[in-house]
Amino acid sequence: MSLSRAVLRTEGIILNSFRLRDADRMVVIFTKEQGKLKAVMKAASKARNRFAANAEIGHLVDAGIFFRTPQSETGRIIELTIRNPFVSLRQSIERIMVLSYVLNLVEETWPWHDPHPSFYVLFKSMLERVDAAEDPHQVRSLLRVFELRLLFFLGIHPALDRCGNCGEKTTAAVSLDTRSMTVLCPSCALSVRKTGRNEKYDRVGRDGGNEILEMSKGLVRFYHDSLAQSGAVESVTLTKAVDDGSRNFFKSVFLNYLGKKLNVLEVRKELV
Ligand SMILES: [Zn+2]
Repeated sequence: MSLSRAVLRTEGIILNSFRLRDADRMVVIFTKEQGKLKAVMKAASKARNRFAANAEIGHLVDAGIFFRTPQSETGRIIELTIRNPFVSLRQSIERIMVLSYVLNLVEETWPWHDPHPSFYVLFKSMLERVDAAEDPHQVRSLLRVFELRLLFFLGIHPALDRCGNCGEKTTAAVSLDTRSMTVLCPSCALSVRKTGRNEKYDRVGRDGGNEILEMSKGLVRFYHDSLAQSGAVESVTLTKAVDDGSRNFFKSVFLNYLGKKLNVLEVRKELV
């Protein structure tokens, strides 16, 4: 019997790392080549492992990961060098919380072994931008944009420019049914409410996440600006109302459309 063996050499971002038995550690890493995967670091706490110190959460690294067979789910780290430790994101408790929020968000939402080079590029550039950002307001804008783009890459991007009921083009505020991800123009939303034919339009969803979101003109614009590939994220304006609306949008989509309560959102409440 012969085993085909392979070493994956890739750039990646360390999402998490935890202790296993003995001195080993399990490292969760989002790689450019293979997406999110797990790899064991042998004897990580021993001095003889010269890579151990490089395996910190949030490090951008070059990794060599050995897989016993092409089907192996978990690899073994045989090489690890730091490309960017994101030093400025470790300089205060507030900034460490921002870093861990972004990492936990990806860890909790992205499927295993699902590579996506474009998302990887976004993820990496987001960390670089947050690392360089000095103003908390700018950090907040970056986080909101990242959340919306993450949804986009997960395949969730409702067409906000057209009413799902009458097909009319919508240009301003809309109501979004987050269970079906259908948009209603103001006049359809109004008539649905008036006739009362559809009770669900007044219902509050699980865990307090609204099923029907009123998306203001400002929030709709922010949504479009955030997803515009060419958009300079730093210049996107984020008012308090749009910040709140965008947070609520993100939470409600997970609760009502994906039926998933994200633990990481508990952390988000404490952020800047
Ligand atoms: Zn309509």
